Amino acid sequence: MTTTTVLDRSATAPDDISLHDRITRHPDAFRVLSGDRPTGPLHLGHYLGTLANRVRLQNLGVPVVVVIADYQVITDRSDPGPLRDRVRTLVAEYLAAGLDPDRTVIFPHSAVPALNQLMVPFLSLVTDAELRRNPTVKAESLAARRPLGGLLLTYPVHQAADILGVGGTVVPVGRDQLPHLETARLIARRFNERFGTVFTPPEPLLTGTPNLLGTDGAKMSKTRGNTIGLGDTADRTAAIVRGAQTDSNRRITFEPTSRPQVANLLSIIGELTGQHPSDVAAEIGDGGAAELKRRATEAINDTLAPVRRRRAALLADPGHLTGVLVDGTARATAIAGDVLNRVRTAMGMDYFAGG
Ligand code: ATP
Ligand code: MG
Repeated sequence: MTTTTVLDRSATAPDDISLHDRITRHPDAFRVLSGDRPTGPLHLGHYLGTLANRVRLQNLGVPVVVVIADYQVITDRSDPGPLRDRVRTLVAEYLAAGLDPDRTVIFPHSAVPALNQLMVPFLSLVTDAELRRNPTVKAESLAARRPLGGLLLTYPVHQAADILGVGGTVVPVGRDQLPHLETARLIARRFNERFGTVFTPPEPLLTGTPNLLGTDGAKMSKTRGNTIGLGDTADRTAAIVRGAQTDSNRRITFEPTSRPQVANLLSIIGELTGQHPSDVAAEIGDGGAAELKRRATEAINDTLAPVRRRRAALLADPGHLTGVLVDGTARATAIAGDVLNRVRTAMGMDYFAGG
């Protein structure tokens, strides 16, 4: 597949047409910030929802910053898990998918404390009611089956600090992140109004699969264990796709509302091959779920074969992966330090300037 396909198909949403055009015309006028929680290996939802777009934007010449959101792991779970291994695996997966550490900054959130400094002024800019309205936070709180913790409630503010703290203006994300982007935009606007203009409200960038479904028909996510992993073998991928829920109607049609699981497989094929999902459906016709799944497996394995090879080779070189993080942390620290200085100046806290 070409990652071009992924970005081009995002242009089906009206807002993204202009964003796409603006980025293509002036790639260096933007900065991408995006990230993932180190809660497990990446899956096809990440790849099609955001990762391929990050690679595409990097290759267009947009500066890209990727945060490994380690503090966010403990928003909805008490055990952070094997963070060291998971962070290294994430770095290997980023590089295997095409992120280039010479151009793209990759760092763990906890290693850049300047970002957390922004939490204090940012928390003063939102209300309790605004935070409680966030539908993604509500859903994650319900799924975690525990009382809503202070960190889960405020993590969209945390995320605003990550984005704005490195000057991010474009955020390639899945649909679950849209409410958080609204919070980041609100905070940027309110900060500028209250203290003077420092921030550009960041814009989300979606793909044609902003909410890829897993094998059980719910959002593909590490937590639900319904994933097709970037690192899964070709055989395992075939078995997972064979087990994916579809329906009993033999004729394959693209109807996202009434046939979400069939539409999901069609969208995967469409994103990976550059075809419209309706055209894929028309080609399969009466071939039924078996043919649909055969084609989906083929598209996924064709795309991921080189990614898997690179992933395995990178995982065998942990020293290189650590070096990428050390370098990325130094660069992110410099960027965030500059932003924090501008925030301090705007707030009248630049006590040590000018001697
Ligand atoms: P967890 O279950 O631990 O929350 P996750 O699978 O939801 O993990 P995140 O690290 O929360 O993954 O998400 C990282 C990025 O990938 C976010 O931008 C998110 O919107 C995007 N993303 C995750 N899952 C999907 C999906 N199924 N479809 C599209 N985008 C997705
Ligand atoms: Mg998530």
